[in-house]
Amino acid sequence: MSEELNDRKNGFLELVKRIRYHNDAIAVLHWDLGTGAPRKGVPQRAEVIGMLSAEAFKLSTSDEMGNYLSYFNEPDNSSRLDPIMKAAVRECRKEYDKYKKIPEEMYKGYVILTSEAESVWEDAKKNNDFELFKPYLEKIVEYNLQFIELWGYKENKYNTLLDLYEPGMTVEKLDAIFTELRSRIVPLAAKIKEAAYQPEDQFLKQYFDRLKQEEFNLYILGRMGYDFDAGRLDESEHPFTTGINPGDVRITTHYYPNNFISSVMSSLHEGGHALYEQNICADLNGTLLCEGASMGLHESQSRFWENIIGRSRSFWQKYYSELQKVFPEQLKDVSQDDFYKAINKVKPSLIRIEADEVTYNLHIMIRYEIEKALINGEIKVADLPEAWKEKMKEYLGIVPPDDSKGVLQDVHWAGGSFGYFPSYTLGNIYSAQLYNTARKEIKDFDSLVLNGELFKIKEWLAEKIHKHGKLLKPSEILMQVTGEEINPEYMIDYLENKYKEIYKL
Ligand code: ZN
Repeated sequence: MSEELNDRKNGFLELVKRIRYHNDAIAVLHWDLGTGAPRKGVPQRAEVIGMLSAEAFKLSTSDEMGNYLSYFNEPDNSSRLDPIMKAAVRECRKEYDKYKKIPEEMYKGYVILTSEAESVWEDAKKNNDFELFKPYLEKIVEYNLQFIELWGYKENKYNTLLDLYEPGMTVEKLDAIFTELRSRIVPLAAKIKEAAYQPEDQFLKQYFDRLKQEEFNLYILGRMGYDFDAGRLDESEHPFTTGINPGDVRITTHYYPNNFISSVMSSLHEGGHALYEQNICADLNGTLLCEGASMGLHESQSRFWENIIGRSRSFWQKYYSELQKVFPEQLKDVSQDDFYKAINKVKPSLIRIEADEVTYNLHIMIRYEIEKALINGEIKVADLPEAWKEKMKEYLGIVPPDDSKGVLQDVHWAGGSFGYFPSYTLGNIYSAQLYNTARKEIKDFDSLVLNGELFKIKEWLAEKIHKHGKLLKPSEILMQVTGEEINPEYMIDYLENKYKEIYKL
């Protein structure tokens, strides 16, 4: 390697590290805000975060970065880079182009608008007042349309937004996926609703001591291979994962005294996200490759642990007796079978985050169809409350009584995150597809779960998915591991088989 190339490479990695370290600091500050920072310190904290973000932004779009990128873009130089350097350059180029194409004033205006919009949205949701939020949402959509013009798009404007969260995903692919889901999941959910047998889940709503909930959550996280020397579990209003670096990946849960299963499931969910971040290959640390390949693939890991493992019969065959030991009074008269059915109860709900495995994807389908139509100018922001209600009726058979429980329920649009929602369903689809391969490749998969040897499953996921970080595209990882492109059949089959048995259909 020539001396010049080597010098440039070191200089570039040093610059990327400076960006990463700013982001590390921001992540810790965010985590602290979510886990009990004193209220009076919040305004200044927001300023500190804003200032550090601006610094990181400046570095990512600096002339120094531009010079490195054009140097490595020279065919002579690019051909001499190793695969990690090539990918590290690719990711910086993406960020650089994304921001450089937007005029600075415009970007600033958008950041201010979305931060205002988030607090307006909170009020609008609390007071069931869509009209209050409407002008903000209109402006946010307008900005996004301008960004799409600046960034460019292929075939469908919405593709550009999808690509921000799921590189390579398109409307064409998603339309095919959701058509398949609509034709099989909508009837499955309807049959379940009409079924004569309905699981009893009242016993889940008894009082469960908070400290004992925590004790059980810590135990389960340890069993699944979450490394407590590289993380910690805290409580927050809404559960989340903060990956600072692979040696420091923190998760939170929320304890409800009358709904203990919620904390167990969210610990499994966030634990799944955390395993991904804890097991990224050390060679990628300090670069932009040290994160998940996409939002969808990240979500596949959380849903793999929460749903496929955590809501399976074999998992509770092993751990139900342990749970009964922690809550002997509450669970002494509840059989393992009744418990399994209760935690898998399907009930169409108005709220996405409360949805079960079967109806969850229908909530996402509604959001996908609305976003796609909005970005393509087929509906207006003013039409959203009605469009929402119609789709809820069509897919879930229920209609929200007001906008707070309808179109205003999620924060995503206030923050400008259009194109994000499909990641949740992609996560579900990927998780079932990976599960299908895991069962073929891991000897005695079921008996490992039955015996609580979950770390062997974690090791498989780490080797196949986690270690690559963002080195490969999500579609490349999926192809490498499962031998095919995204295929929703595995998830649909999984849901049909599981729920036909539970509901005796
Ligand atoms: Zn998640």
